[in-house]
Amino acid sequence: MSLLPKLSNVKPGEKFDVIIVGLGPAAYSAALYSARYIMKTLVIGEIPGGQLTEAADVDDYLGLINLPAQKMIETFNQHISRYNVPVLMETVESIKKEGDEFIVKTKRKGEYKASSVIVAVGVKRRKLNVPGEEKFTGKGVSYCSVCDAPLFKNRPVVVVGGGDSALEGAELLSRYATKVYLVHRRDQFRGQPFYVEIIKHKPNVEIILNSTVTEIKGEKLVNKAVVQNLKTGETRELDVNGVFVEIGFEPPVDFARNNGIETDERGYIKVDEWMRTNVEGIFAAGDCTGLWMGFRQVITATAQGAVASHAVYSYLNEKKGKK
Ligand code: NAP
Repeated sequence: MSLLPKLSNVKPGEKFDVIIVGLGPAAYSAALYSARYIMKTLVIGEIPGGQLTEAADVDDYLGLINLPAQKMIETFNQHISRYNVPVLMETVESIKKEGDEFIVKTKRKGEYKASSVIVAVGVKRRKLNVPGEEKFTGKGVSYCSVCDAPLFKNRPVVVVGGGDSALEGAELLSRYATKVYLVHRRDQFRGQPFYVEIIKHKPNVEIILNSTVTEIKGEKLVNKAVVQNLKTGETRELDVNGVFVEIGFEPPVDFARNNGIETDERGYIKVDEWMRTNVEGIFAAGDCTGLWMGFRQVITATAQGAVASHAVYSYLNEKKGKK
């Protein structure tokens, strides 16, 4: 099995029933369902697996017990390959409606036409925006505990955040690092209580609440993080070699707005219960939508992808019926 999907040999200008933009779980699921509805389908996306590439083991997807995330991506590829869904590893620059069809323009591989589009572009990691963060990115500052934890074997680190990513990251890092400081800006964690309980019992994890990292210092590599208590204003310097910023994600607000797709007040794509956007013929699925905010799981993304494909199928049939 492969981490890469079966790549496409489609030609620019070719027309599809549906183009799926994205390559995360929502996109794979949309691709599978679209193929099973016998719609001519093209997937255009950048990283096979999307955020799943940054996960360790998946143990909260019913029926799959403690499956390594890499294995899950391989299975996704295998599954859509069985249906011969073509995949173009590319960035989509724009989606334009011309009459009854959409023109999907890619960065390097030309334009493709479609009767409908499913946008499943996911989200981008949020930054702390503090002094030292940019300078030390890749030199001690990381946005992915799962990817980089082994690099910090026998070193002290700080994790910032209070959601599942930060808690899961702190747990993983506690197996490598000498000491893990978990810094969260409130006194209540947002993440699942299951992870909070595990973290509380880790002897090398120190939880620092009501606080945030305000500066990252070092020479060539990180050697300190300044932590400020948001209630008292007091600061403390932690001797650390790693700063893991796990503070959530930003929606693809520019991509949506540049293509005329309406977003909610937080910048997530507005969809109805059938994953329809404000643009007739454009549907959206997965983390880029505002649906089920605060509960982002592989299973919820794949569910949305499946629903979007079903909705596309109904939409195209309805259109055919009107002709
Ligand atoms: P999240 O749930 O949005 O949590 C982000 C955390 O970072 C929050 O605790 C937030 O604080 C804090 N934060 C945000 N901006 C900050 C800033 N500028 N400075 C300091 N702290 C800041 O993000 P996530 O943990 O990455 O999770 C994203 C989604 O993926 C969630 O739905 C989560 O459940 C899901 N996920 C699931 C799993 C799993 O099920 N195994 C694993 C990872 C992620 P506040 O709490 O004060 O807002």
